[in-house]
Amino acid sequence: MSLEEILSLFNNTKNTRSQLIISGPCSAESEQQMLQTATELVELKKIHIFRAGIWKPRTLPGKFEGVGMIGLKWLQKVKQIYNLPVATEVASANHVYQALKHGIDFLWIGARTTSTPFGVQEIADALKGTDTPVLIKNPISPDIDLWIGAIERIKNAGITKVGVIHRGFSTWEKTKYRNYPHWQIVIELKRRFPEMLIICDPSHITGNKNYIPEIAQKSVDLNYGGLMIEAHHDPENALSDKEQQLTPAELNKLIDNLNISTKDFKNIPINSEIEQIRTEIDILDDMLIELLAKRMSLSHKIGELKKNNQLSILQITRWNEILNTRQKKAQFHNLNANFVENIFNEIHRESINIQSNIIKTTDHNF
Ligand code: PEP
Ligand code: MN
Repeated sequence: MSLEEILSLFNNTKNTRSQLIISGPCSAESEQQMLQTATELVELKKIHIFRAGIWKPRTLPGKFEGVGMIGLKWLQKVKQIYNLPVATEVASANHVYQALKHGIDFLWIGARTTSTPFGVQEIADALKGTDTPVLIKNPISPDIDLWIGAIERIKNAGITKVGVIHRGFSTWEKTKYRNYPHWQIVIELKRRFPEMLIICDPSHITGNKNYIPEIAQKSVDLNYGGLMIEAHHDPENALSDKEQQLTPAELNKLIDNLNISTKDFKNIPINSEIEQIRTEIDILDDMLIELLAKRMSLSHKIGELKKNNQLSILQITRWNEILNTRQKKAQFHNLNANFVENIFNEIHRESINIQSNIIKTTDHNF
């Protein structure tokens, strides 16, 4: 894909089958690491933009914070040797000036910066008068307005090629993934900006290379326009995010195994809509199951407490309160009251089963 072809993917309402592939290490570490990784990635003939973080915003102090300016020279070298567009993260006006001075083709704004309107505005001001393509990662918190605010600040600075990167959202509770995807936020963003280039970053969503394929496939199914996947020639010795970086060979396999062909089917408009809705239903059903699992683990906890304090399982006033409040809420959302009552009866039945099993397991320590 030429640079012009890549740029034509921004502001595009057509359903294209091609996936824009951005890959490279989490961080630039040394000239040797950058050139070795780039050589192996370029050999795949599958990547369109080479990425590397120069300035690394780390949540906790004391971790590797990036090599700084020298890394821009290495990116420049990759660009010259391989004639490949390059991208890096910027978090301040100075980063923007330095990156542009070194001919970096694409800039991205990291999740922590998107969360800070002052930071985004400073970057927007520094970009005025250029038409550098910018990719905006979602903010750390699941707040669509913060994300849209950042998009608008960059667009208001006169940047016409603005895309987004979905990298998942922080959660208090540990889940399977490092960052929870909240797909529905991206679906809503796509509804509001149908022409926006949307890239998925399964590396930062999963935090674990074994889960990258399933998230990458889901993003393809949801018609995202591309993938940003971290790759390193020697992930085990990477200075940041080593659990989630793929080797170029692993990236090759992942891309080959992506099922992109379903997009042919999606070109028929009615099927395309049905497919889209089915994918959304699958996502919501997954969430329902996760929520039920959480709900039942709380029943387990409360069962233990009731056992230790010799309380009876069924507390009828509490049960009435549950039914009433849930039915009111259901009405508010135009849900059939019987349907909701049936569901809660089943949930309650299962909760009681769980609690009775706990109470039955008495200790036999005389
Ligand atoms: C990155 O892409 O290396 C990065 C730091 O990402 P994020 O801002 O999504 O954490
Ligand atoms: Mn990273």
